[in-house]
Amino acid sequence: MRIVLMGPPGAGKGTQAARLVETFGMKHLSSGDIFRAEKASGSELGRKLSDIMASGALVPDEIVVEMMAGAIAAVDESAGLMLDGFPRTVAQAEALDTTLKENGTPLDAVVVITADDDEIVGRITGRRACGSCGKGFHVKFMPSGKGDVCDACDGPLTQRDDDREDVVRERLAAYKKQTEPVIAYYRGSGAKVIEVNGSQSPDAVTADMVEALRSLGG
Ligand code: ADP
Ligand code: ADP
Ligand code: ZN
Repeated sequence: MRIVLMGPPGAGKGTQAARLVETFGMKHLSSGDIFRAEKASGSELGRKLSDIMASGALVPDEIVVEMMAGAIAAVDESAGLMLDGFPRTVAQAEALDTTLKENGTPLDAVVVITADDDEIVGRITGRRACGSCGKGFHVKFMPSGKGDVCDACDGPLTQRDDDREDVVRERLAAYKKQTEPVIAYYRGSGAKVIEVNGSQSPDAVTADMVEALRSLGG
């Protein structure tokens, strides 16, 4: 199964992707995670990405398309693919279509997780991730069972430097202006677009997503 996962920042893409990968076994590629790994490498490209991401703006399409094509080519996606956070512009969606056409591996569906602006700000500002294993938490909605360390590995809980309220507003604006048109693009191109209500408990969202993906024949 090959899926694109979309939704505003904080909608629950990463949380749900981690769960769906366990159920369906596909490979999860998050553009944000790939860019943060490049940042952490300390490369010149990483420093450039760091400045752009800290502002809440999108990384330029040429960089995104090259990095994501490389990431897709580098993984064994025979078990399927879940793209999380990519594509985020119509130009990226067109480039992805070309890559998938060349590979003969079309998308099965585009899943959009919805959430309200107010909810998003609360989710993003309370988001934490384990610095060792990457497990995601929320200080209120999905707290670690061990308080301020990771309940899976005792690692330290960290906060992303772009998860501040002022940056979130910029990221939301970028989503509305540049990413929402991607949903219309997919609808217009005949892709199967599935909307899931992200304003429910994490378990209820997962249940809706599993049902939607099973209906695709997964
Ligand atoms: P979120 O989980 O809040 O949706 P991500 O981790 O996906 O955020 O992305 C963090 C930042 O990385 C974005 O604000 C943007 O600067 C950059 N980024 C990630 N994916 C893309 C993309 N497909 N195109 C452009 N920029 C991207
Ligand atoms: P995205 O990848 O779309 O940016 P995340 O999966 O990282 O979103 O979720 C953002 C924050 O909200 C995280 O702290 C996560 O623990 C929390 N979260 C995710 N889904 C829900 C939900 N359904 N209800 C409440 N909080 C949630
Ligand atoms: Zn951990």
